[in-house]
Amino acid sequence: MSRTVIHGGLVVTASDEIHADVLIEGGRIAALAAPGTDAATSWSADRRIDATGMYVLPGGVDAHTHMEMPFGGTYAADTFETGTRAAAWGGTTTIVDFAIQTMGRSLREGLDTWHAKADGRCAVDYGFHMILSDVNESSLKEMDRLVAEGVTSFKLFMAYPGVFYSDDGRILRAMQRASGNGGLVMMHAENGIAIDVLVEQALAEGRTDPRYHGDVRKVALEAEATHRAVQLARVAGAPLYVVHVSADEAVDEIAAARHKGLPVFGETCPQYLFLSTDNLAEPGFEGAKYVCSTPLRPREHQEVLWRGLRTNELQVVSTDHCPFCFSGQKEMGRGDFSKIPNGMPGVEHRMDLLHQAVVDGHLSRRRWVEIACASPARMFGLYPKKGTIAPGADADVVIYDPGAEQTISAETHHMAVDYSAYEGRRVTGQVRTVLSRGVPVIEDRAYVGHAGHGTYLPRGTCQYL
Ligand SMILES: [Zn+2]
Repeated sequence: MSRTVIHGGLVVTASDEIHADVLIEGGRIAALAAPGTDAATSWSADRRIDATGMYVLPGGVDAHTHMEMPFGGTYAADTFETGTRAAAWGGTTTIVDFAIQTMGRSLREGLDTWHAKADGRCAVDYGFHMILSDVNESSLKEMDRLVAEGVTSFKLFMAYPGVFYSDDGRILRAMQRASGNGGLVMMHAENGIAIDVLVEQALAEGRTDPRYHGDVRKVALEAEATHRAVQLARVAGAPLYVVHVSADEAVDEIAAARHKGLPVFGETCPQYLFLSTDNLAEPGFEGAKYVCSTPLRPREHQEVLWRGLRTNELQVVSTDHCPFCFSGQKEMGRGDFSKIPNGMPGVEHRMDLLHQAVVDGHLSRRRWVEIACASPARMFGLYPKKGTIAPGADADVVIYDPGAEQTISAETHHMAVDYSAYEGRRVTGQVRTVLSRGVPVIEDRAYVGHAGHGTYLPRGTCQYL
């Protein structure tokens, strides 16, 4: 059994910051010991990693990615191979991606399709949520089977009529089913019916630039949908996880629900914390790079999101990684913002951007690890296998240099997309080495992993219930 010792670093988890040496045996954390103690010095090892001056972190868990997702006649540019490699470069060792049910087809068929895309190609471990596009008697029954086999969360959409949209009745039925089988409903909370009216009116009036994407997807329509989702979940007696919360008033809805003691959870993403409608309004067609839904909001929303993350009104930061190249993909929407594929690249930079938030004073180090590693693992039934450094946990470990400076750029990133949403941004902190189940994937800033190392993760149910 191969043994690795990581010595000299500061181990940071959601609950502790301790100077400790870490022993890894057979792909799992075997022990932690204070440096220099008999226990630590007696460890024999095949590999020793010097982490002096570094943080030793649990690998990141990105619970919201869309590798090679079909959208608007094209596909997200990262495959499971390139996307999970980029994730590893950024210190993320687990992703939970979304398998999609096609209208009129079974959940099983959708799930099988996504398994086939990912199998043998991933650099790090992965699980699946299921997107429910067609709620009917047979797909409701299938939900039970999926929960039993480890696909324990189901995303529904109040947006995108004619594509993924479910009406309130279908949403209620899915929530009722989830309340009985332990599943967690994840909601894209925007009033898509009203948004489509505003889209049509904007285009008819010649407002076709990317900035109008943000304009028509009103804060009020995110807040209204969030409120409605909470009430439907309450009626169904089901828990609710609201994905990609971007608006201050939506945070208020989640906070109010939690204050009542309802099992309601919220996720936000780096783009809402670091970017704004200023980006959507960039001249030329540049704003298309920032088209995603929910949309970027005016800058003043950011402080509410940071506060929500500090006070646990929001629990998780995921990326909603769904990259489309500017050239040839985003360009499909020149002259009509509604044809710009929705989504942004981000899987590689979540850990770094959130570390910058530690440097900037928005978050503590432990809260950084909590929202990026531990909480997503708990939320989606992967803890403590993933999300922490403790005996028995998978040895998914990031050696992180908190003082390294880097400039984020498409020239140097590893995602298969021709632009960076954070081009030229200087951040402090960088991944040095990444282990996945004890095996080096990144070693001193070189990729040493391989497609197929990553294995599929059947998940348990939400651990906050
Ligand atoms: Zn998404």
